[in-house]
Amino acid sequence: MNIIKIKDNSNKLYFIGGIVRDELLGLKSFDIDITYVGNAMEYCSKFGEVIRKNPDFGTIRVNVDGQEADFASTRFETYPRKGHLPVVEKIGCSLKEDVMRRDFTINALAKSVTTGEIIDFTGGLEDLKNKKLRVLHDESFIDDPTRIIRGLKFRIRFGFELEEHTKNLQREYLANINRDMSYKRIKKELIETFNLNSQKGFEIFINEGIYKLVTPNEVKLPKVNIEELLNLYKVKNIWLVYVGVLGDLSSLPLTKVEQKILNDVPKKVMKSDFELYKAFENANTESVLLYGILYDERGAKRYLDKLRFIKTKITGNDLANLGINPSPEYGKIFDAVLKEKLKNPEISYDEEKSIVREIMSNKKS
Ligand code: ATP
Repeated sequence: MNIIKIKDNSNKLYFIGGIVRDELLGLKSFDIDITYVGNAMEYCSKFGEVIRKNPDFGTIRVNVDGQEADFASTRFETYPRKGHLPVVEKIGCSLKEDVMRRDFTINALAKSVTTGEIIDFTGGLEDLKNKKLRVLHDESFIDDPTRIIRGLKFRIRFGFELEEHTKNLQREYLANINRDMSYKRIKKELIETFNLNSQKGFEIFINEGIYKLVTPNEVKLPKVNIEELLNLYKVKNIWLVYVGVLGDLSSLPLTKVEQKILNDVPKKVMKSDFELYKAFENANTESVLLYGILYDERGAKRYLDKLRFIKTKITGNDLANLGINPSPEYGKIFDAVLKEKLKNPEISYDEEKSIVREIMSNKKS
């Protein structure tokens, strides 16, 4: 657990969720989440400088001796609109009610700030010991299907498995998906899950049909090992190289860059180095990798290992100096030089100009 000293004798403050789980697993936690049985916004501002408050959820971020901690009021929530953000019914409920709104038993553990005692209302300690992920009630995935992807994330991160009943609930939900859900939240969890770069996680995603949350189309597991490919070629949007395999991501709110990455993936095998080069000269590496996974691994690697570093040197000025008037013809000339350069990357600047001269004299004759 991150060392954070809070002097408090109320026995109403509890470390909660991931921070308790991670401490018990011997892992470092990045967020400090503390819940207060009552209204945190009033009580917790005394622990340090207040950074921000969110009255709708009764949460407050405070800088405690140089460390930021999130204090939340215990709250009870319901899901009137399944698959969307819950509605807060009561702020300042009991610790037990607060714990029951959480996703898995291992994330529902609390640790008293005053005494250090672990409070386990749901069997989280036992599940942690047995490496199991168990939801807290049968409606859990119906209320919030993002929990299915969160489950996958924790399976990848901790090597845990779904407990049998939870696995059945997941199977049932995936056979009856209610597509009226918050895809913004789904996307956030997909990013966190697949940025972990795990081929094994992706195989679970496909084989268990978790991908159906994103698209109703059938998707098969590609033969290419995506994790290995991503270890060879570093990209920013790791998650999109995985999730892009689904093809249809129209359900997700994508940024312009993400949409461009998908649009730049050719829909067929490129037949020559020239075609490969032209397809990817203005594309992100993510697009090339997706092409490699979906159509042609060798071609993608050839582009990334070799072709992308080949650049012609002649410019429009050179063509003008050679007496060629600016026209759409320029593009064709550049392409012709490029074709030669792809065949022989050693061609020099002067030799490029000779190629242009040859093209022009062939034209005249
Ligand atoms: P991480 O190490 O990834 O931050 P975390 O468990 O702290 O893990 P958060 O997303 O920060 O994950 O959530 C904090 C806590 O809030 C969780 O431990 C869990 O108790 C609860 N929680 C988060 N998302 C959900 C959800 N979709 N449904 C129910 N409870 C959730």
